Amino acid sequence: MISMEDVSKWYGSMRVLTDVNLKVRKGERIVICGPSGSGKSTTIRCINRLEPFQKGRIVVDGIDLGASTKSVQAVRAEVGMVFQQFNLFPHLTVLENCMLAPMKVRGTSKGDAEAIAMKYLTRVRIPDHARKYPAQLSGGQQQRVAIARALCMTPKIMLFDEPTSALDPEMVKEVLDTMIGLADEGMTMLCVTHEMGFARSVADRVLFMDRGEIVEQAPPEEFFTAPRHERLRDFLGQIL
Ligand code: ATP
Ligand code: MG
Repeated sequence: MISMEDVSKWYGSMRVLTDVNLKVRKGERIVICGPSGSGKSTTIRCINRLEPFQKGRIVVDGIDLGASTKSVQAVRAEVGMVFQQFNLFPHLTVLENCMLAPMKVRGTSKGDAEAIAMKYLTRVRIPDHARKYPAQLSGGQQQRVAIARALCMTPKIMLFDEPTSALDPEMVKEVLDTMIGLADEGMTMLCVTHEMGFARSVADRVLFMDRGEIVEQAPPEEFFTAPRHERLRDFLGQIL
């Protein structure tokens, strides 16, 4: 589903990704963790080409990302992304936030877009808030709208970049539960998160990044109980 081969990226002279190799199969759930500045966001932003990269190759669902702007658009239509800061359009209602991309990108009719939006807002358990504006919702509710909005494009892959780290503790669970629901339905997911409980129960593989490299990857059981690299042992020592 996703294949990254020897992907490297620089900001000016600073190398932020070094030969990242990652293969994600359909239906796989991957969790990425690692210290601040290690390249986690950059990695997943490269997958939907929010960031360009200078070396290597990324193929998403058979589409080579290097090829053309057309391939970038094609990939973005198949890959949903959820950010730490929700990124909802503040001047649009919850419903309008969810209807926008299907109408603009897929050419879905207004009536159909609304039906799809209500379906996913119901899935994330906030259909009652459809006519409100984002600022009228709690952080956890806004993040669930962001997830619903991404799902309205019926993506094949969902990317999450620390979706719960801007939330008050009592709202973390409702967002994680939504993500667990998606995982249970077989969604291919790549999640940057430090929610290690989530990683343990949901991930097929956990990746540890440090200084722009994937230092270690293993199924959660092995990752947490038998970390091989010292840098990972240090990291786990700090967060667990
Ligand atoms: P965090 O846990 O803090 O979110 P991260 O692992 O997601 O960290 P990235 O955001 O991928 O880290 O950043 C990787 C490196 O790239 C960092 O050293 C960061 O300072 C640098 N970087 C990120 N964005 C830019 C930018 N637009 N211009 C220059 N350097 C950048
Ligand atoms: Mg980040």
